[in-house]
Formats: sequence, structure tokens, C-alpha cells
Amino acid sequence: MSDIIRLLPEAVANQIAAGEVVQRPASAVKELMENSIDAGATVIRLVVKDAGKTLIQVTDNGIGMSGTDARMSFERHATSKIKSSEDLFHIMTKGFRGEALASIAAVAQVELRTRRKEDELGTLLRIEASKVTEQEPTQCPEGTTFQIKNLFFNVPARRYFLKSDAIEFRHIVDEFQRLALTHPDLEFSLQHNGSEVFSLPKATLRQRIVHVFGAKYQEKLVPVEESTDIVSVAGFVGKLDTAKKTRGEQFFFVNNRFIKNNYLHHAVMTAFEQLLPQGNYPLYLLYFDIDPAQIDINIHPTKTEIKFQDERAVYAILHAAIKRALGKHHLSPSIDFNQEMAIDITPARADAEIKQPQIQVNPAYNPFGGPKEKKESPLAGWFERKGQAAGNQNWRDLMEITKQLDELPSQTQPTLLDEEAWEEEISPVQFQKKYIGVQRGETWFWIDQQRAHHRILFERYVRQIEQGRGPVQQLLFPEEIALSAADAALLQEMSADIAALGFDMEIVEGHTCVVKGLPAELQDAPTERLLQEFLEQYLHAGNLELSAREKLASALARSASVKKGQNLSSPEMRDIVRRLFECRQPEFTISGQPIFVSFDVDVLEYQLK
Ligand code: ADP
Ligand code: MG
Repeated sequence: MSDIIRLLPEAVANQIAAGEVVQRPASAVKELMENSIDAGATVIRLVVKDAGKTLIQVTDNGIGMSGTDARMSFERHATSKIKSSEDLFHIMTKGFRGEALASIAAVAQVELRTRRKEDELGTLLRIEASKVTEQEPTQCPEGTTFQIKNLFFNVPARRYFLKSDAIEFRHIVDEFQRLALTHPDLEFSLQHNGSEVFSLPKATLRQRIVHVFGAKYQEKLVPVEESTDIVSVAGFVGKLDTAKKTRGEQFFFVNNRFIKNNYLHHAVMTAFEQLLPQGNYPLYLLYFDIDPAQIDINIHPTKTEIKFQDERAVYAILHAAIKRALGKHHLSPSIDFNQEMAIDITPARADAEIKQPQIQVNPAYNPFGGPKEKKESPLAGWFERKGQAAGNQNWRDLMEITKQLDELPSQTQPTLLDEEAWEEEISPVQFQKKYIGVQRGETWFWIDQQRAHHRILFERYVRQIEQGRGPVQQLLFPEEIALSAADAALLQEMSADIAALGFDMEIVEGHTCVVKGLPAELQDAPTERLLQEFLEQYLHAGNLELSAREKLASALARSASVKKGQNLSSPEMRDIVRRLFECRQPEFTISGQPIFVSFDVDVLEYQLK
């Protein structure tokens, strides 16, 4: 047999990589706008047609590019932002991997017009599916304009599985707003299908927030400010009457990047507790400034999660800062954190002595009614339980509470709209109890149910391990399982990550494993077999180039995924199809096997002629 290993052609490699960077029009919007900001632009204009499916155009007045750089910018790993691995530790720009333009150009038709200040003529460059079709000098204004046309024109799977225009446009607005709210000092505009959606002049942060969310917020923003050795927080929370039943106006930024963090969200929500009816979410925009050494930056370009080294301290600081801000504005019973007690978090570090802040309750203040009708302050019970004198205990209690919150399952923002649209549009069928068939536009997709589900769970578990918590289902009766010495050692070594996946277990003497809780979706599985299977899968994945965590995630996904031969209901199939196409990489399994095949109606018509 002849040798069979080949290098992928560059264009195919780019297309596969594109799956990671460009998942939908909004991802391209984000990459282009970030590039404009990195290029020092002060004015950035975004124009989209059909929710970005037909056109995404970003124009800036930044530094522009030379002809050679314009050509280079589409190469993979081509970046002007870092020169050596040293630079990785103090990145000031939003991008640095040099992958975005290469990825976008692999799956769209791109036109670039760019001119540097010092050049008389600019450059026009056309590129389509990674191939340059035209490059010539052109007259154009200083700065850069990118036009991305017909995104995914050559990747029908991606194109068909884009959501409705309403939903895709919503994603674009989200990305646009996040950047506009990070950089109030820059001018932004957004036009969709010919009408102006946002026009945001250079402004202060407060003005920018009002421009983005509407004049009704003019009088409704309560400033939050707290500066400590570990982290500084600044920003605004909305007054109580701005709270909404749906989420969407909650923002955290860390060192000028938008992030999502359910744990910190909880810190804000508990600070508002009992001031707001259940299920109401206040507006907030909170900006953290923190030494980059104190956070694990996820260098994946599309990730919005980061991890703080000392998440509990950040939680406590944030919680206290918001309580104080609300108190100051008489929105909550006044807890008088007096000024000189500027929250000093340094002692909260494990190795240091704890310095106790003084907390005083002002029982005379009551925001809810007349002075006689003495309603209970939301915190009164709490303080009472702990005893008034135990004021010095409060700080520790706060830390204790945050500890309990570690078990919180992580939830993503609800996307009701998506669900509804999908219910209507998708009616999958099962074939041979192995494949899911589903039709989109003029194409039929046949999806391997087991591979698809494995991919979905794999990506979810990797996220879960990174975030460090997953839902645990406690067992009624803990189970003891005897292991080999080697297996016990392996489990011990992986214990932190295993816990993040939702296993609650302990290795006791004689290599026995006591299992007290399992990942929620595995609660019905026979524990011993599951564990053995899991270990086996983990060791088996050895020949793939995966990190230990990815192996772990893959092993669990293998145990938990639906198998061939399993009947699936319509909702289950719909769920798999939908989640698969939300994956970063729906096309291939982690070992590179295809997950689905597709064929167009033309093929059918041709065959039947
Ligand atoms: P990265 O942002 O990670 O460097 P990109 O693929 O996004 O990678 O961009 C590649 C390079 O193209 C950038 O490093 C930059 O030099 C150049 N570039 C991209 N967009 C612009 C722009 N709007 N203005 C000037 N230069 C740009
Ligand atoms: Mg970039």
C-alpha cells in the first residue's frame, strides 16, 4: 500500500481554522472592529446587509496598510502586533494571533481598501476563498475599509445553519455594543439595510451608556467605584426601576475586554437581593482593572470567559462595592461602609492575617416607608443571625457565602428566540437508529448521532473544566469502588478537573474510590461501569494530541453521549442538530472524522435524470 498521509491544501486548512474563529456574521464584525481599534482609529463605521449574511463593511480612519502589508494581512499567523513570545505577556492590542483575516477570507469574498497617511495611492485587494483575485493601486481615503460579502458562500453547512436575520442581527448588535461600551472615546456607527441603528459620538462613559440604551437612563445610573490592591472596579448599576425581566443589559469588562462570568453576576444579584422582585435583572456595566498576572487570559480569540486567580476576593469586593453604591444612593438600607475603610483585600490572601472592616447598620434609615412602619432591612436577618457584635465576623461570612456559591451551575443567557425559531423550522428524521437526517434550504444533511453528540458534550465539558464548576447530582448512597493502584493514582492526579466535571469523589485507603456525586446527566448510569469506562476512555485517547483536560472531557463525553442504535425522539434530535451547529467545530470529531455529510438537491436531480 502506498503512503496515505498528505498535507492539507492551504485553503482547506484555512477553512477548517475558520470554523474556530468565524462562527457567524457577528464573529466577523467583532474581528474587524477590533482590528480598527488596534489600528488606532477614532471613527469606526459598521454597515451590514441582511444581518451580515450579504455584506459586512467596516470603515475606519486608522493607520492603514502598505500594499505589501495588505497582502500579508490575509496570511495565517500574519500579525503586526507581536514579534516574539515575550510579547505575549504584555499584549496591549485586542488581536495578536494573526488568524482573523485569514479565516474570514477563507469563507467569504473580501474587498479591502486601505491607505496610509504617507501614501498618495491606496491599495485595493480582492480575495475569495483564500485566493487573491485582484490587487491594484486605488484612490481611497486614509484608513481602511473591509467588505465581507456572502459569508460562508463556500461552506453550505455553515450558511444554512445560520439563524434568522433577527437573531443574527441581534448577535451583531451585541458585539457592536460591547465594543462601543468599552471605548466611549471613539466614535461608532451602525447601519443595517440602509437605516441607521446607532450613531455614537465620542463621549464620556455615562453619556455613551445613555446613547446606547436610551435617554431613559439619563437619571438612572448609580456610579460604582472601588479601588483595592487586587482589583479596581468602576462603572454603573441601574436604579431599581430600570430592572427588566429579561437579561441582556449586564456587562463585565476586564482590562477593556468584555467577559461573561456567572459567578460575578451572582455577586451583583445578591447585592440587589430583596430590593428587586425575583427574576428581575438590573442593568449594570462594571469595569475591572486588574494586574494581568492575576487572571488567566484565555488566548482563544472568541472566548469571553476568563479566570481570576482570586475569584472569591473579586466577588467580595464587587458585592461590597455595589452594596455601598446602592446604600449611598439610598436605594438600599444604609450600610455605612465608611470612607476610610476603603476595602483592603490584601489580607484576604490565604497566607496573610485578616484585617476586619467595620460594618455599621443604620437602623433608622428605611427606604420603603414612613419612619414608624419599620420594615425589615434585607440584611437585618443576616446581621441578626450572625449577631450584631459579630460585625468583625461579617467579612469572613461573606467569603464563606462566596464559597458556597462555587457549586452554582453555570447558565448561559437564555436564547428563547432561537428555540422558537428552531422548533418551527427543523423536522429531523432518524435512519437506522444511527443517523439524523435534516433538511435546510436545498441541502440534506446526514449526521452521525453519536459523533455529533460527542462533539457537543466535549466542547461543553472543556468549557466546564475551564470555568471550574459543573452541576453535581449527589448520590443517595455513596458507592465504594475498588480500583487498581494505577487507576487510583490517575484519578487522584486529575481530581480538580474531575470535580469541575461534576464528580464528587474521594480516594480512600487501599485504592478505594468513594463516589458521592456524579455529573448531573450521568446520574442514572451504573457508577462502577461508568468509572471504569471513563478511565479506559481517558487512557485510550492517548494517541491524540489532546491536553489532559481535553482527554478528560472527551472521555466523559464518550460515556455520556447517545450511542448508535439508540432511538431518539424528535425533540432530542432537534436538540442535537441545533447544538451541533453551535459548536466551534461541527464538521469533525476531535480525531478528525467527519460528523455529517451533505448533498444538494442538484445531485438528486442529476441522479434521477
Ligand atoms: P491580528 O489582529 O491578530 O494581528 P488579523 O488577521 O486580525 O490578526 O489582522 C492581521 C494584521 O492585519 C494585523 O496585525 C494588522 O497589522 C493588519 N490589519 C488588520 N486590520 C487592519 C486595519 N483595519 N487597519 C490597519 N491594519 C489592519
Ligand atoms: Mg485581529
